[in-house]
Amino acid sequence: MTRGLQKLQAQAKNNEKKAAAGKKSDGKAAAAAAIKYNCQFCKAPMSDLQTYREHFDAKHPKLAHPPEFATA
Ligand SMILES: [Zn+2]
Repeated sequence: MTRGLQKLQAQAKNNEKKAAAGKKSDGKAAAAAAIKYNCQFCKAPMSDLQTYREHFDAKHPKLAHPPEFATA
């Protein structure tokens, strides 16, 4: 009877591994997707256009706006 139990435990472990692996790859994809823009002057990574605009107004107020700003 212990054999059947061991099999179940092994299966549970495998499922945990699969779940962990899935989480890892999802996190990586999310992290990559989070960076949508890089400031064209200082190359700082920006997660969205709003952040980029705020960064631009704070750091490069005298420079012309990049073309990305016109699209949103
Ligand atoms: Zn910048």
